[in-house]
Amino acid sequence: MEFLINLSYIVASVLFILGIKMLGSATTARKGNLISAIGMLLAVVVTLLESGLDYPWIVAGLLIGGAVGTVWAKRVEMTGMPELVALFNGFGGLASLLVGWAEYARERDFTASDYPTFTAFAVIFAILVGGITFTGSLVAYLKLSGKMSGSALTFSGQKAINALVFLTLVIVSGIFVVTHAGWALYLIIVLSLALGVLGVIPIGGGDMPVVISFLNSFSGIAASAAGFVIFNNVLIVAGCLVGASGIILTVIMCKAMNRTLGNVLFGSFGAGSGQSAAVEGEMKAISTQDAFFILEAAQSVVFVPGYGMAVAQAQHAVKELGSLLENNGAEVRYAIHPVAGRMPGHMNVLLAEADVPYEQLCEMDDINAIIETVDVAIIIGANDVVNPAAAEDEGSPIYGMPIINAYKARTVFALKRGKGAGFSGLENSLFFRDNTRMIYGDAKETMTGLVAQFKG
Ligand code: NDP
Repeated sequence: MEFLINLSYIVASVLFILGIKMLGSATTARKGNLISAIGMLLAVVVTLLESGLDYPWIVAGLLIGGAVGTVWAKRVEMTGMPELVALFNGFGGLASLLVGWAEYARERDFTASDYPTFTAFAVIFAILVGGITFTGSLVAYLKLSGKMSGSALTFSGQKAINALVFLTLVIVSGIFVVTHAGWALYLIIVLSLALGVLGVIPIGGGDMPVVISFLNSFSGIAASAAGFVIFNNVLIVAGCLVGASGIILTVIMCKAMNRTLGNVLFGSFGAGSGQSAAVEGEMKAISTQDAFFILEAAQSVVFVPGYGMAVAQAQHAVKELGSLLENNGAEVRYAIHPVAGRMPGHMNVLLAEADVPYEQLCEMDDINAIIETVDVAIIIGANDVVNPAAAEDEGSPIYGMPIINAYKARTVFALKRGKGAGFSGLENSLFFRDNTRMIYGDAKETMTGLVAQFKG
């Protein structure tokens, strides 16, 4: 039986890896999700075959957890996904904490284990990382959902207190690994829960997606440690996969924002950067009527969506205008910046919801390669991700951040409500350039206005 179980765990692990690989492309992502889910089902069923399990408790847990999960997943809006993921991570961390604690409650001094010191280490690691993940994710959830102020909560001596809590955790963990003392374990539970809160409150709400991705990685590491606690191979593998993919996504997001992870976790945006160059000139507005005449003659049009499109919920009107332009003979593309909006894949999710064909979505590098041949770039509530300062102004806090070079298109239409800055709070010289025309107003209303012009 043990051989069969371990063989099934290997099959499940292969299915996880295959599934993750398929998530890399929009066309195979759904299948990848299904394949990973089949792997998880196999792992769960096989684990339940192990002898000596307390089935009534397991079934009760499955029923309650399954019911809550189903209702929640059905209710959640696509844009509420990061909040849901934050909660999932948090509960994953809590589960690992409980596994470690339960193992201690069962064994106390780990004498039944072949490797008592290693088991004590795994127990404390699962508890420590799981505890931080749990409360850190809860704070991230509250900030992201607006149930708690999104602004960074700071007080004097905060960094010193955090460092002290962390140092105490390391020392008490060392004491536990050597002595297996109960007081040390309980102190670690309390301190790790506290550190999760203390670590996330000073981070601004806008950075929460990065924090959630980072805590996702933590939840994987905690699960892997829990796998070592109960010697479950598939939990170790699955935990490692989550830990690694979470940290890869975190690094990708930081790179696309031109920031280090340290800056996101311990600094504030743009801290320590030089002075941005002053932007000169004036923004020139254009009416939807005049914009229509230019669009009617355009051979190629690129939409560059940003956070404002999400705020305005303009995606359906954007898709409608895209179709009308295509019918008019223009080549239409949608340029996606990796950190446009406020969560990874934000624009992809919105455009998919509006049934924009995958083939028309272009990654930043692909669009930048042809942007000079584009007749009109329509910027829909994007700001930082098209700010030329990132390419040209060495003093700018966003200098070096890869952007969509919309300013190189022949004509640029920028749709925004007024003179509001983007997430970075910086002025954007693109809006002042000779080839740019501003179309003021809510992005959805402007788009609907342009659609109406086309329909005559
Ligand atoms: P920005 O936040 O830079 O700019 C959004 C613009 O949208 C604003 O200038 C605003 O101008 C405009 N806007 C807001 N509401 C509307 C509306 N209803 N209609 C029309 N326009 C509107 O967005 P970007 O997408 O360009 O950049 C994303 C930023 O978020 C980057 O700095 C990125 O680093 C950061 N970030 C992204 C994360 C991610 O995972 N995607 C995570 C964390 C941070 P106005 O007020 O004048 O209308």
